[in-house]
Amino acid sequence: MLEIIPHGDVTELRFSTWSSRAMRYAVSAFATRGVLIDSGFPDIASDLDAWMAQARPLGGIITHAHEDHGGNVPQLAARGFPLQIAPDTLSYLRAPERIGWYRRLCWGSPRALRNEIRPFAHEALALIPARGHSADHHVVWDAERGTVFGGDLFVGIKVRIAHHNEDLGAQVHALREIAALQPERFFDAHRGPIEAPAAALRAKADWLEETIAAVTKRIHDGWADAAIRTEVLGPEDLTGVLSFGDYSRLNFVRSVRHALTVPAPSANGAGSA
Ligand SMILES: [Zn+2]
Repeated sequence: MLEIIPHGDVTELRFSTWSSRAMRYAVSAFATRGVLIDSGFPDIASDLDAWMAQARPLGGIITHAHEDHGGNVPQLAARGFPLQIAPDTLSYLRAPERIGWYRRLCWGSPRALRNEIRPFAHEALALIPARGHSADHHVVWDAERGTVFGGDLFVGIKVRIAHHNEDLGAQVHALREIAALQPERFFDAHRGPIEAPAAALRAKADWLEETIAAVTKRIHDGWADAAIRTEVLGPEDLTGVLSFGDYSRLNFVRSVRHALTVPAPSANGAGSA
């Protein structure tokens, strides 16, 4: 299903299916200046096709390789639709990571990109690295209109769950860098337009920093990951349980530990509160 939400010069393309809605997920691609930003997920390919046949965008820009953003790149590329994709995103699209059943049910199974990409660029739209959410995460910056298309940079201020390969320190850095652009508008792929975006990005960076510090202190004090999780972030929510820990609060703690290169205490280790 495609819901079209106009925001003046920006059109939000909000994609969902019955299964994504049942899991309370939808994702938005955006169109601005005749350019498509992100491509939705595999299960909405026909909705995207129908929109493209009517809107005829000049080209597309992809923020990152996750299947709800780059999920339709293989079919767009096969058709010769010009695309701007960062080299690291392209590597992920050519050899997609194995995703768990939770993500396959929500978004569909991504295919590997086989075709060459017809290059694309728009002079008013810059693809800027904003890593952390994933190693290949970017945002699209329209300096003239003070507008950021943020992919998954924001999503919410207090996001207590993480995927196993998120780099939370890099996320803080990216949030502060994009806030420093002083954007007037910010379009989030899951939340749509964000009010007072520079302040929201800084608030998220502050919360992440405080939370990373609270986790770090307990890691140095020898706590076990599950104990830190419950103390600092609370017990797992439904997503953590349904995804078998793929997106979980425990992964938040593990990501901090990984960055510190402090091994987890053994199961019978002392001091694991
Ligand atoms: Zn993502």
